[in-house]
Amino acid sequence: MIKRKCCGLCGSHILRTLFLKNGARVVRCEKCGFIFVNSVLNESTMATMYSQSDRADDLVDLNFESHRAWHQKRVKQRMAFIHFRKRAEEIEKLMRVGRILDVGCSTGLFLDIMKARGWCPYGLEPNQKASKYAREFGLNVSTQTLKEANLPSAFFDVITLWEVIEHFVSPISALLKIKHALREGGIVGISTPNMNGLVNKALKEHSRHFDVQHVNYFTPKTLGKLMNKTGFEVVKMRTEKLDFATCISHISGKQQRYKKLFYNLARSLELMASIFLDPLIARTSLGNYIVLYGIVKGG
Ligand SMILES: [Zn+2]
Repeated sequence: MIKRKCCGLCGSHILRTLFLKNGARVVRCEKCGFIFVNSVLNESTMATMYSQSDRADDLVDLNFESHRAWHQKRVKQRMAFIHFRKRAEEIEKLMRVGRILDVGCSTGLFLDIMKARGWCPYGLEPNQKASKYAREFGLNVSTQTLKEANLPSAFFDVITLWEVIEHFVSPISALLKIKHALREGGIVGISTPNMNGLVNKALKEHSRHFDVQHVNYFTPKTLGKLMNKTGFEVVKMRTEKLDFATCISHISGKQQRYKKLFYNLARSLELMASIFLDPLIARTSLGNYIVLYGIVKGG
């Protein structure tokens, strides 16, 4: 285990315990507000865990003939497709088509979407099954964590980290490594759970985001601080997804018989409602995820 005795963002030692969950102590820095787990598994143990994990969410039904066929099949995947397409459009407003690296690319859906739009895609994914699947569809994906990867300097136009920054033991060193691999004026895209999101705030420690694999919990403010500290200028930040399916799933948690039914129903409603709600949520900080784009400063 690695003890994080001071704030990973500002270095302050004044930390307040928020709660304990699954044996982890979740603390908040009194100086800058950054929320994190103060005792985490060392990085090699985590890398082994990611390499072999068989998360049902990502790895079921990998027998479809293409990513697109798979993602048409299930509501959750269909939502991922919609959100990724929106991010692709946002990136293309900031950068012309070029080289893109997706860190923690899983089975490669986002890279597949970018490839179809003319981008030259690269991926890093520590999970063996997911990365193998991505390669089978012709994507250039290495079975590695960001820490293990030897990235060329000033090579990529865009690097994306969709829901991965919450896993890093040191988000500052991760962002510095990314900055080094980006060319002048390059763009980083990040999404991560929003601790100020409506559902996360309501559920508090019961939020599913307080999970053993997540060790950092950001708000728009603390994520902005991380960007500043590592030499990026935030060019766009918004929040997305109300995630009320998670809320319903929590409320119906004790009635296992109905849990899946409620969850699937809520997911379907969420998918339909997202067409109307997404533009509204994007104007607030209430969405359960933060989506941010930063440009290398001085570029
Ligand atoms: Zn701090």
